[in-house]
Amino acid sequence: MEVVEDTEAPRTVELNDGSQMPLLGLGTWKSAHLPPTPLQGAVEAAIAAGYRHIDTAHSYKNEVEIGKALISKMKQGIIRREDMFIVSKLWCTFHAPEDITWCFNKTLRDLQLDYLDLYLVHFPVGLKKVGDELFPMKDGKMLTTDIDYVDVWRVELHPYLVQSDMISFCKSKNIALTAYSPFGSPARPPELFRGDTDPKKLLEDPVVAEIAKKHRRSPAQVLLRYHVQQGVSVIPKSDKPHHILENTKIFDFSLTDEDMEALRGLDRGWKACILEEVKSHPYYPFN
Ligand code: NDP
Repeated sequence: MEVVEDTEAPRTVELNDGSQMPLLGLGTWKSAHLPPTPLQGAVEAAIAAGYRHIDTAHSYKNEVEIGKALISKMKQGIIRREDMFIVSKLWCTFHAPEDITWCFNKTLRDLQLDYLDLYLVHFPVGLKKVGDELFPMKDGKMLTTDIDYVDVWRVELHPYLVQSDMISFCKSKNIALTAYSPFGSPARPPELFRGDTDPKKLLEDPVVAEIAKKHRRSPAQVLLRYHVQQGVSVIPKSDKPHHILENTKIFDFSLTDEDMEALRGLDRGWKACILEEVKSHPYYPFN
C-alpha cells in the first residue's frame, strides 16, 4: 500500500489491484430508528464539495437515494462514473453462496450502477434469513448461522480505539485499512450496538479540543487528519452540508508527532459498534 503524494484533493491510497481509493469518503449509515434525512441532497453536496468516495450498504436502506444523487451529478456533467469510488456491503442474512448475487444485484439496481469499486462483507457473522428481516430475532435472541466468511479490513478506529498493532500489521501486509465511526458514532442510539462504557464524547474530548485550537481547526478535522496522516482511509458520516465541507479540509495541515502521541494516549479500547446480540457467534469480530 502506497500513499499517493498528490497536492490536489482528493488524496488516494493505491489498492493491490492498482485502483485508487480516496482517503476521505462519505459515510451514509443512518439507523432506521432515527428520523430520515435528506440523503440525496447530502450526497450531492458531498460530490460538490469534492468527495469521490461514498460508503453505503444494503442494510442502510439508502442506496436508491444515493443512486439518484449519483445519476443527477453525472447528468449535470459534474462527475463520470469512473471518477467515483463506490463501496457497498453484503448484509449478514445473505452470506449463503446462493444469496450473495441477489444482494449484490439489488445494490447495483438501487444505485443504478453496473459495477462497484469495493464490495465488503458487512460483518463476519451470518444471520438467518427470515423474510426481509435485517436482524432476525426469536425469543429475544438474534438468529445466527455459521456460514464461513472472508476476512475484511475495515474496522472502527479513532483515538479511543487506537489499534496500533492492527495498523502496523496491515501496513506490513500491504493491506489498505478504512476507519469507520471516526467520531465515535455520536448519533448512534444507545440501544443500538453501543458499548455502555463511553466515558465522554470523542468530539468533545479536551485533548482533541486543545489540538484543534492550536491548529485553528475543528475537533472533527483533527480526528479525520489523524487517520489520513497514517495512510488510513476514513468515512465520516454527515448529512449537513457545512459539516460535509468542513470534513474535506484535512489535507492542508499536519499534526505534529506530539499531537499524534497525545491522541493515541486517549486510547481506552472503547468501541461504538459492538453488536452484542451476536456475542456468542464463533466469528464474533469485536472481542
Ligand atoms: P461517525 O463517527 O462518522 O459520526 C457521525 C456523526 O458525527 C453524525 O452525527 C454527524 O452529524 C457528526 N458529524 C459529522 N461531521 C461533523 C463535524 N464536522 N462536526 C461535528 N459533528 C460532525 O459515525 P458513523 O458510525 O456513522 O461512522 C461513519 C460511517 O462508517 C457510517 O456512516 C458508515 O458509512 C460506516 N460504517 C461502516 C461499518 C462497517 O463497515 N461494518 C460499521 C459502522 C459504520 P451530522 O450528520 O449532523 O453532521
